[in-house]
Amino acid sequence: MAEPEGTMEFPWHHGVFDAHCHPTDTLSSLQSIPSMRAKVLTVMATRAQDQELVAKAADEYGITSDDVADGEMSWRDSHKIVPAFGWHPWFSHQMFDEDEYDGAQSLTLDQKVAHYQSVLQPRSEDIDFLQSLPEPRRFRQFLDQTKSYLERYPLALVGEVGLDRSFRIPEAWLPGEVESRNDALTPGGREGRKLSPYRVSMDHQKKVLLAQLRLAGELQRAVSVHGVQAHGIVYETLAESWKGYERKVPSRRERKRQESATKINAEPEDAAKSEEPRSRSKPYPPRICLHSYSGPAENVKQYTAALVPCHVFFSFSTTINSWAEDGNGKVEAALRAVSDDSVLIESDLHTAGEKMDQYLEKIVRKICAVKGWELEDGVERLAKNWKAFVFGTGD
Ligand SMILES: [Zn+2]
Repeated sequence: MAEPEGTMEFPWHHGVFDAHCHPTDTLSSLQSIPSMRAKVLTVMATRAQDQELVAKAADEYGITSDDVADGEMSWRDSHKIVPAFGWHPWFSHQMFDEDEYDGAQSLTLDQKVAHYQSVLQPRSEDIDFLQSLPEPRRFRQFLDQTKSYLERYPLALVGEVGLDRSFRIPEAWLPGEVESRNDALTPGGREGRKLSPYRVSMDHQKKVLLAQLRLAGELQRAVSVHGVQAHGIVYETLAESWKGYERKVPSRRERKRQESATKINAEPEDAAKSEEPRSRSKPYPPRICLHSYSGPAENVKQYTAALVPCHVFFSFSTTINSWAEDGNGKVEAALRAVSDDSVLIESDLHTAGEKMDQYLEKIVRKICAVKGWELEDGVERLAKNWKAFVFGTGD
């Protein structure tokens, strides 16, 4: 057993990296980033209102390719974030496929109603409600915009994307409510609004996710994936993106034949693969983080199977994951099933600053306790894993 949680002084100096958070939801909190003890925050975008905010945050606080080339952690205190651009499943209904509307730039009121009727479940006949929903955006236009952000920020990731079977979309603001909303929060989130009975169809969510996975593959960027009550279908969708690219696992007989063949012929396929330039486009992302992983331990094995052609990381938080009192719950079992080089930590918090540091410290201590790692060793491992996830080092 490692030392009990919370007793040893925390080794911030080894570098603590938040793999998934949303500080642009509270814009005023961004100014506290340079004074935070965490080394780097991986900042997600989720919806129409926060893509440009994440870009601006990267302009101000982003680490640069020069910082990284400079080597081990020498980048400045003011350079502390890596941006991620993506569309979250909670907002997936706000996206329409222009091909289904003859390439329309925007939808008429009737088309808007038809669009929401086709992507929301159960189908709604409440025309007032459907008309009150946000103007749907063109999906291809969003993908083009995301691509240009990714090109503008060469270290940027794709995220937050994913699938969610449990969420329901919020009702529109009631008259008078908008005026009294908290101005400090970036618009577009739920903010305590009543939930409607409607969910977004899995088909539509999948379409939005798959296109973003392909974009990540095209530009060879890592992806941060949200999956709630959809573990099977998240795997299926990811597997769909790498279909035809599965790693070949040689059978025992094939391996034997290879071993006895001449040296030239015995060159294993994997060795040839690892020499491919990293920039080469594929239809699937090179690295994936399943954020606040809440699936069962058995599903972890699916992702680490030899045929999976990308490195899948599992990130844990104290905000979303529910840890058992006795240390023997479902999350603990999943964490134990994750290999030491594939664990990440995150705050998943919507505000930067001291609270975020506290959450990060808490989750590091939790993971070290479950994994049986000494605290310093654990912080170092987690730092190395984050760099492997974001920069693709060490693969
Ligand atoms: Zn998130």
